[in-house]
Amino acid sequence: MKTIKDFDLNGKKVIIRVDFNVPMKDGIIKDDNRIKESLETINYVINHNGKVILLSHLGRVKEESDLIKNTLYPVSKRLSELLGKDVIFINKTRGVEIESSIDNMKNGDVLLIENTRFEDLDGKKESSNDINLAKYWASLGDIFINDAFATSHRAHASNVGIASILPSGIGFLIEKELNNILPVINNPPHPFTIIMGGSKVSDKIGVIENLINKCDYLLIGGGMAYTFLKSQNKEIGSSLCEDDYLDYCKDLLNKTDKIVLPIDHVVSKSIESDSCEIKDEIASGDIALDIGPKTIELFKKYIDKSKSIIWNGPLGMFENNLYANGTREIGKAFNKDQIVIIGGGDTASAIINLGLKENVTHISTGGGASLELLEGKSLPGISVIGEWVWN
Ligand code: AMP
Repeated sequence: MKTIKDFDLNGKKVIIRVDFNVPMKDGIIKDDNRIKESLETINYVINHNGKVILLSHLGRVKEESDLIKNTLYPVSKRLSELLGKDVIFINKTRGVEIESSIDNMKNGDVLLIENTRFEDLDGKKESSNDINLAKYWASLGDIFINDAFATSHRAHASNVGIASILPSGIGFLIEKELNNILPVINNPPHPFTIIMGGSKVSDKIGVIENLINKCDYLLIGGGMAYTFLKSQNKEIGSSLCEDDYLDYCKDLLNKTDKIVLPIDHVVSKSIESDSCEIKDEIASGDIALDIGPKTIELFKKYIDKSKSIIWNGPLGMFENNLYANGTREIGKAFNKDQIVIIGGGDTASAIINLGLKENVTHISTGGGASLELLEGKSLPGISVIGEWVWN
């Protein structure tokens, strides 16, 4: 698979698909991490005398009002501050203004085109990988670099479409994601432990099926644990449960002895209540919202003997500090000799918000994309460029 380092960028118009899908409220960027994550690739093109043409989506665009809410203009300002240079922003997704601005670009200049999903307003052209749109965007550059890991599980005009037309490679962020995640999935150092949480069993079945034979232990917490516990005829009160998956959980528990379930719980009578207690047995009126201290100790025993760990899904309703302890304590349980990979989305925000970033090897920037990698799927935005081969 080609990477950005395989191209001569001197004087070339380099289209980079970045992920600037930042949380935004009233035009204010709430977290600029995704912009920061793209800087290495952008600076590489600048330093190698290329012309940087950036494409990104921001949120969903379904109605006219989304055009105001989801403009990339504030991102162009923040990017300019972070790069320490001007960023040319064009508030359109096609047209002569873009073309003439690109014609006037000098080597090292940076230009950002408006939110690619503005093209979804009229017939979902970006999201359905419209060939004419892809051809148009491809006509603006010489080389295409995909560095938007978090969107690479989607086949859109701004990734798969352009990559099918122009000479293409991946940027530093995607390279880092693949180099960290794929070796652990394909050839994990053993003992290999999966920690799984989050709300639903149904969302995680693909990952379980792909990794259950490869892992040594599967530690299950979070809301999804209660469907497993109910399938063993345990009382779970009003905790989360997917009744349609009880048979699946029961069969899996019969088939393997790798699964470790919570043995105590932090329960409350209501999600809104500010009182909770720790219990070994859940009573009928209880909602279990975090793993308890005995479970933390039990999970730690498996973590201690592991060489590699993949963690997907928070172990409790961590957004409320009352139920963040399980996720926090397990986040502190790793040692420097272990490879610890954190899936994107909620698990990534939990680890970052709890200040535990330094305790792990890699935190993925893509929720859906990392989940699909863990499911053993190939990501269309990357496979269109080539096959990943690890050292
Ligand atoms: P997911 O998107 O499936 O990874 O789920 C993440 C969400 O699961 C977070 O918003 C957590 O608050 C929630 N969660 C984790 N554990 C529990 C639990 N025991 N009960 C209810 N929600 C939970």
